[in-house]
Amino acid sequence: MALLDRYGGDARPLAGGQSLVPMLNFRLLSPAALIDLGRIGELAQIREEANSVVIGAMARQRAAEGAEIVARKLPLLREALGWVGHLPTRSRGTLGGSIAHADPSAEIPMALLALDGEVVATGPKGRRTIAAEALFESFYTTTLAAGEILTEIRIPHMAPGAGYAIEEYARRKGDFAIVGIAAIVERKADRCAGARIVASGIGGAPVRLRGAEKILERDGLDPTAIAQAAARAAEEVDPLSDPNASADYRRHLVSVLVGRALARCAGMPERAH
Ligand code: FAD
Repeated sequence: MALLDRYGGDARPLAGGQSLVPMLNFRLLSPAALIDLGRIGELAQIREEANSVVIGAMARQRAAEGAEIVARKLPLLREALGWVGHLPTRSRGTLGGSIAHADPSAEIPMALLALDGEVVATGPKGRRTIAAEALFESFYTTTLAAGEILTEIRIPHMAPGAGYAIEEYARRKGDFAIVGIAAIVERKADRCAGARIVASGIGGAPVRLRGAEKILERDGLDPTAIAQAAARAAEEVDPLSDPNASADYRRHLVSVLVGRALARCAGMPERAH
């Protein structure tokens, strides 16, 4: 905090460096100082607290991917982590860095929103909690205030037996997704008691597909309802066009990937995690 204050906003926290250092190399950033968070041991812990998993901002992506508590209580996050970059980048990259970096195609912010998670920001005015819904503003932009660092990620346990899936399309394994989908469905017999579907790569930030969610919560998880939800998902997004893909192609990908993700969610055995 004191170092951040000393440089008055012209310093950058350094976490795993897997995005910050490339940005320095491309001369997209030239801060006066880097403040290495790597030596703050308590920022790297992963622990269970009441009905949540609490992950320190400096927890390495690889450590969370292999953590037993994440596999047991947050299997969607564990699946998402497997899509992040490559093993070497995950061994250095952190969850806090990915969230703070807020790449619109990143899997961890998408999973945090799907899991209804929140982060703890610590700054000159103390600690405050920010829900994922209120955190991601636009391209590489969060609601973290100047002088604040992200210190914890807090995610409620997934409902026992929930269906979950991450589906994405990227040109090569390990590339950022052109479109990514995270889906969680809570099932009660053949009904859908609750659905959360999030898309990444569509625009500046991950986005909830609430129209598609409502179809499942009204009509259940049979193939007809899933097809209608996938079609509704494509209608409710307003994707960008860029050299990777046109808006129409992204919209098509949303429909296909939502359909695939929901079919996996529906077909998943109702085993408790
Ligand atoms: P850093 O690079 O150290 O920092 C990133 C930014 O966040 C910086 O601005 C930094 O100042 C800020 N910051 C870091 N920690 C904090 C904190 N605690 N509080 C406030 N600000 C903070 N990511 C994906 O999601 N999907 C991919 O497919 C993917 N592929 C990749 C492929 C390659 C080859 C590489 C090199 C990276 C890839 N990444 C991908 C990015 C990777 O996941 C990064 O680890 C992540 O984006 C940033 O995490 P980090 O810990 O490395 O943060």
